[in-house]
Amino acid sequence: MKYKSTRGKVSGVSFKDAVMMGLAEDGGLLIPEEIPKLTSNDLERLSNLNYSNLAFEILSYYIDDIPKDDLRKLIESSYKVFRDSEVIPLKHFDNYHIAEIFHGPTFAFKDIALQFLGNLFEYILTERNDKLNIIGATSGDTGSAAIHGVKGRKNINICILHPKGRVSPVQELQMTTVEEENVFNLAIKGNFDDCQAIVKSIFNDLDIKKELKLGAVNSINWARVLAQIVYYFHSYFKVTKISSNPVNIVVPTGNFGNIFAGWIAKQMGLPIKKLILATNENNILTRFIKNGDYSLKEVVQTYSPSMDIQLASNFERYLYYLLGESSENVVNLMEELKNTGKIDFSESLIEKVQEEFDTFSTSNENTVNVIRSFYETYEYILDPHTACGVFAAEHFKNLYSDYEFICLSTAHPAKFGDVVEKAIGRPPEIPDAIKELFNKEKRMTVLENDTEKVKDFLFKNFK
Ligand SMILES: *Cc1c(COP(=O)(O)O)cnc(C)c1O
Repeated sequence: MKYKSTRGKVSGVSFKDAVMMGLAEDGGLLIPEEIPKLTSNDLERLSNLNYSNLAFEILSYYIDDIPKDDLRKLIESSYKVFRDSEVIPLKHFDNYHIAEIFHGPTFAFKDIALQFLGNLFEYILTERNDKLNIIGATSGDTGSAAIHGVKGRKNINICILHPKGRVSPVQELQMTTVEEENVFNLAIKGNFDDCQAIVKSIFNDLDIKKELKLGAVNSINWARVLAQIVYYFHSYFKVTKISSNPVNIVVPTGNFGNIFAGWIAKQMGLPIKKLILATNENNILTRFIKNGDYSLKEVVQTYSPSMDIQLASNFERYLYYLLGESSENVVNLMEELKNTGKIDFSESLIEKVQEEFDTFSTSNENTVNVIRSFYETYEYILDPHTACGVFAAEHFKNLYSDYEFICLSTAHPAKFGDVVEKAIGRPPEIPDAIKELFNKEKRMTVLENDTEKVKDFLFKNFK
């Protein structure tokens, strides 16, 4: 499989090069030259595999430049660090099926992709006798998962920008208590979009990108989307083994990376009925799906901070397909967005979107309410991101009676204990691996929201 850019000026890229490239040099995002289509026989065959074997089969459709045995080892070492032997266990509550995709080292779903990406980087760099300096922006979970994916690896440095004081205490600890010398944390005086803008503008400076051997781990890296496709298959197969009802999958969404992986799974032939895109009060994607209003607003802080995002970095990938695989149209609309802060979509395009997606936006108040009611009914504690998803599922329950809802649970509730406490009157139990962090020293550098300052820091520390 070869990869090409959504903006049309880069193509014929191998998988390994796509991984190392992150953003394409024309400013676009890399996508496979075609999406493989699975037959019902393929699906039947895949439906009985354990997580690692399933991952190997799915990833093999997209990776043809890593020998099979090596790929298998990369996948196995990525998922054997998960705390649950099934990697992703499902909990069943009537028609709701909570897929716990958070059992990796940092207790959020980002580990699924970033453990794999860390192994992949090391493999490729060793083979090429090369080095890589990673920079990334995080609203909390990506940064910690990325750091834990690459800490201590010889040929890699990592520098993560987070919005100062706007990540949860546990997220901050997970990032800043890592002792390995190849890890750098920058606390930026701004919001997540500011951090992301700095990273993007550094990546768009091709000289610096080359000189510092920069690579990306944020959700624009194709390998991340790829690793996430697997759990859509895994969860779907599990639920359809116990029910013959049609299946919707609900996805708490920020950067559109997780749900885009689900969309790819659907295009590959996995018979998901609807992907339900759940947002918090930062609801640009909900407005887009409902009535084509893709207009940027101020980011507001909510109880689900990993979804406090307006400019969803993976959206361009979906846009490419929505616009009939036309790079020219993508370039034009991204220009419109840059100049006016919005894109207006025609009604006919939005009808197309609505064939595949439903959406619902949840307030802080309802986030708390649904954590409480779900706990009262099922004695199960949702984290606030997952709660946005479950609230969306409840909203669509009547429209889709006799459906199963797979709700992707994107984080362990202990990562967001204060919100849980508001809901049920006590904090969730804290796993030992998180408790230990509170005794450790935090290491970070505070910087203004200023690209030049960040560049200086990188030149000092990455050389
Ligand atoms: C990153 C994250 C999300 C949003 O996922 P996207 O791929 O950015 O849409 C939701 N919940 C949690 C807990 C996250 O860490």
